This record gives sequence, C-alpha cells and structure tokens, in this order.
Amino acid sequence: LIDIQGVSKSFGDNLVIDDLTLYIRENEFLTLLGPSGCGKTTLLRMLGGFETPDQGKVIFEGKNITDIAPNKRQINTVFQKYALFTHMTIAENIAFGMKIKKHTKSYIEEKIRYALKLVNLEGFEERMPDSLSGGQQQRVAIARAIVNEPKVLLLDEPLGALDLKLRQDMQYELIRMKNELGITFVYVTHDQEEALTMSDTIVVMNQGYIQQIGTPEDIYNEPQNAFVADFIGESN
Ligand code: ATP
Repeated sequence: LIDIQGVSKSFGDNLVIDDLTLYIRENEFLTLLGPSGCGKTTLLRMLGGFETPDQGKVIFEGKNITDIAPNKRQINTVFQKYALFTHMTIAENIAFGMKIKKHTKSYIEEKIRYALKLVNLEGFEERMPDSLSGGQQQRVAIARAIVNEPKVLLLDEPLGALDLKLRQDMQYELIRMKNELGITFVYVTHDQEEALTMSDTIVVMNQGYIQQIGTPEDIYNEPQNAFVADFIGESN
C-alpha cells in the first residue's frame, strides 16, 4: 500500500532518517519501535505529509505523494497530544474536519454517532473536552480521524499518557478497528511490550536506520543483532 523508497531527512547537521526503504501492506498493523530520538516521529511525519524528505519518495497506491499536502492524502494522523478544540463540544470537534467537505447535517450526525460508538463513547456528543479524561479525549481524537474514512491511520505514541487498564482497552479497540474497518495502521511507540502485543509487523529502528523488520515472534525469538536483542530484552 505504501512504498517508502530511500527516504532521508536531516535537520541541520543531524541526519535523522538515512536512506530508509520500507513497504507497508494494506490492512497491516505496523509498529515503528525504537529508542527516543531514533527518527520514528520524523518518519511518521513524512508519511502524513508534515515533513518533506530531502531525498527519496513516498508512493501510496502507486502514486507519488511525497509532496502532497496532509489534507489531500487518505492518510490521517493522530498526534501524541490530542489537541481537541476546548470551546467546542465533542460532536463539533468531530464534525470540524468534515464540514469543510460540505456534507449534509444528517450525514454528519450519523457519522459522529457511528464514530463515537466505535471508540465506546456513545452519547458523548454534547460534552465538552474538559469534562473528559485523557483517555476519553484520546478516543475522541481517534473518532475525529475515523470519520474521514482514512485508508491509513498514523498514531504517534497515542497511549503513552494512559494508565495500564485504559491502555489495554485502547489497544484492543485499535485492533478491532483495524479488523472491522480494514484500516492500515502505522503506530509509533518506544514500548516493546506494546509493540509485541499489537503489531502484525514491527520495524525496529535506531539512529535513522532500520535494524530489523519482522513479526513480533521473529523479533522476539530471533533478534538479528545485539541492538535488537538488547532493546527487546529491556522489557523483560
Ligand atoms: P521520541 O520517541 O522521543 O519522539 P523519535 O524516535 O520519534 O523520538 P524524532 O522525533 O523523529 O525521534 O527525532 C529524531 C531526531 O530529529 C532528534 O534528534 C530530534 O531532535 C530531531 N528533530 C526532529 N524534528 C526536528 C525539527 N523540526 N528540527 C530539528 N530537529 C528535529
């Protein structure tokens, strides 16, 4: 579905992504895993269109989207901080992205109901963001992305701020969405356990390079080098 071909990105002298090539299959849950500063977020931002590579291409469904603006891609991003509009209700927040596309009112209402049900927040339409917990706000951010029917959802450490129980619930819900909606997920985390539980494919990164690509079983049982072994081992 997404073909990342030899992308590089520097900030000043700092080479953050170095000639990276990666193929992302349709409807897979792919996790970018690696220590802080290894370039996961930068790679995700290039997929979302928020950062342009210095070299290389991003091909989506056979089309070169390297220079296409974020809102023109069928790839939606949910950022680490959920950034809801505090003066708007939950329904208004979710509708915000759709209204500019001039949908009818009943279509929008139906979509909001559907999206809230999907993230287990039925009936939250008229609530204000401040009255929701961090986890609930994060769910609204995901609902807001879902109503745009993206083919790909990019999630940057979305569950980092949540306590263990909420995190497990959300992990389960994301997998359910992947299965029910056929969405492709690209997920950024530095949490080995989270990556091992949720992913179809794990991409272990360090210093702008891919160290290993594989299933959770591959990565766990057959780490290809000392870095992967050490990094995965840290969770035990
Ligand atoms: P974390 O898990 O801490 O978010 P990460 O693996 O996602 O880390 P990136 O956020 O991609 O890593 O950052 C990789 C490197 O690029 C870091 O050294 C960071 O300081 C640098 N960097 C990222 N964005 C910028 C920017 N806009 N300007 C300058 N340097 C940047």
